[in-house]
Amino acid sequence: MNLLSDRILNMSTSATLAMAAKARELKVEGKDIIGLSLGEPDFNTPDYIKEAAIQAINDNYSAYTPVDGYVELKDAIIKKFKRDNGLSYNYSQIVVSTGAKQSLANLAAVLLNDGDEVILPCPYWVSYADLVKLNDGIPVEVPTTIATDFKMTPAQLEAAITPKTKMLWYSSPCNPSGSVYSKEELRALADVLVKHPNIIVVSDEIYEHINFSSEHASMAQFEDMYDRTVTVNGVSKAFAMTGWRIGYIGGPEKIARACNKMQGQITSGANCIAQRAVITALNESPTRVQFMIDEFKIRRDLVLDLLQDIEGFKTNIPEGAFYVFPNISYYFGKTLRGKTIQNASDFSLYLLEEALVATVDGGAFGNPDCIRISYAASQKQIIEAIKRIKAAVS
Ligand code: PLP
Repeated sequence: MNLLSDRILNMSTSATLAMAAKARELKVEGKDIIGLSLGEPDFNTPDYIKEAAIQAINDNYSAYTPVDGYVELKDAIIKKFKRDNGLSYNYSQIVVSTGAKQSLANLAAVLLNDGDEVILPCPYWVSYADLVKLNDGIPVEVPTTIATDFKMTPAQLEAAITPKTKMLWYSSPCNPSGSVYSKEELRALADVLVKHPNIIVVSDEIYEHINFSSEHASMAQFEDMYDRTVTVNGVSKAFAMTGWRIGYIGGPEKIARACNKMQGQITSGANCIAQRAVITALNESPTRVQFMIDEFKIRRDLVLDLLQDIEGFKTNIPEGAFYVFPNISYYFGKTLRGKTIQNASDFSLYLLEEALVATVDGGAFGNPDCIRISYAASQKQIIEAIKRIKAAVS
């Protein structure tokens, strides 16, 4: 008998965290690594949010919170959904969790039975497939390419649906492609879904505010989708609060209650100080974090401009989040500095060892022809990193 469960043995390690760990190891060895692998803003949490947390400590917030979140935080979330998305939720439709990652883990746990299928347009965020598998579900990957801006078409969705389809999961803006589904594109997908009323949609909108051009659209905004869409959001990205670990959902009451029950047995609720800080983050206007979004846009343009000069890097134009996802399959089968590149994993490793730049293999996101480059780094670091990449592949 194995010491460890099949469940954990069959789970893959988060590729982004694994790459970050490898980059850290090389740094410890004294190598000057530029880390472009993590999905983490390089800004500090804004002062007005930090002050709210300090106030909460001084006000002696230290006890267990309601499992699904403080009422005042739910008020702020309800207000945020109304203000930014035109969505109406009541208290029993909101659950606050330890990061959007736990919100997603809850959803997989409360909605999936053995053999249920979850449609994942590729590329998808790295944890989706493992969360589905962990809960005995089957990820059904729908490949997309730069030709459709890495977006799934209605025909692809239709073709992927089977009698076992339980859910569709996607992020928009997307990690890792930066693609943003327009309202019309979501409507076209909804038109397919209305023919299959039992399919639940999980719309991961954690990059909502990091959107450079298009308006942010939510699947739940369509009346005929509202009752079967769970909107996932959080503060990690736009508010530079990754370590505070607060995410939340708005969705059908029955699903929200099940998530509440689930985390009642697992975490007893999210951290009290972080919850108090997030009340302030959400009640304030999102314009207070616009300076970070503006900087991300400048960097996006910079990265795209610099990558254009490197042979074999094909990109879409990411409209949101802080990643570019170049197709680098041009290098497959080629030998660089004596190392043969068979796939994106080899390429990413090659860049780490030869250019001292950490990126992530696109295979982890369901697209093995690409790598993910995060531009949550200073312009100086980005310029230096891409200079090194160019030299390493020339
Ligand atoms: N969803 C997407 C698309 C993400 O990129 C991430 C983090 O990288 C998460 C969810 C998880 O966010 P959190 O930090 O709130 O757990």
